[in-house]
Amino acid sequence: MTKVAILRCDSAAKTCPAVGCVTAALNKKDTFKDYEDVEFLTMITCDGCPGRLGLNQIKQLIEKHGLEVVHFATCMDALKPKCRYVEEMKGEIEKMGAKVVIGSHF
Ligand code: SF4
Repeated sequence: MTKVAILRCDSAAKTCPAVGCVTAALNKKDTFKDYEDVEFLTMITCDGCPGRLGLNQIKQLIEKHGLEVVHFATCMDALKPKCRYVEEMKGEIEKMGAKVVIGSHF
């Protein structure tokens, strides 16, 4: 069982109800389709630029809840202007010991 969470853009979260992300995770679709068995732990926001507060939550999720893979919501890479912190956040999460997948739903 792979434990996953979705990290999404705090700015986008103000207008998006996240149905696409949650539906993909719960139904093993799109970027979740290759998991044999997946447990969707939660979805959080980055809590605003530059994403430090969201990373604190990711750390807690790894240490206390066994989070293994963080999916960056599609909004983080697809919206314009693009998030300038994606690569940095990805690197910090990988240093904490979790994998990162860019994207949630298609
Ligand atoms: S850090 Fe990136 S993902 Fe977070 S609010 Fe800013 S633009 Fe959105």
